[in-house]
Amino acid sequence: MSATHPIQGLVSKWETIFNLPDSITHYYVPEALCDEGSDTIAETLCNWEYRSASISWFMGKVATLTDVELERAVVHEMTHVLLAPIERHVAKRYTEQAEFAVENTARLIMRIYNENVT
Ligand SMILES: [Zn+2]
Repeated sequence: MSATHPIQGLVSKWETIFNLPDSITHYYVPEALCDEGSDTIAETLCNWEYRSASISWFMGKVATLTDVELERAVVHEMTHVLLAPIERHVAKRYTEQAEFAVENTARLIMRIYNENVT
């Protein structure tokens, strides 16, 4: 990956905005190592008890996103980190509802940011 890929700037920008005390490690998985045909943009793993998280970015899919879609994805994954302490306890049968709530929260954060900063 080029050292200047836009995702790195977006990750840095939104880590500052979210102001989480967590240590977040980002892995940029090269396209060659991504599952072919997978629609997964990223996988976020959180160990909220230890204030740490990791986000694996699947660059093959990332490369297909527009700048706006990429920023939305970054905010979405950061929202998973934000809500990790409660999201982990959502029963598997409610995963879809939890995902919907994460996306709603991410959209609200991005809308408030865009209305007030840009
Ligand atoms: Zn999600």
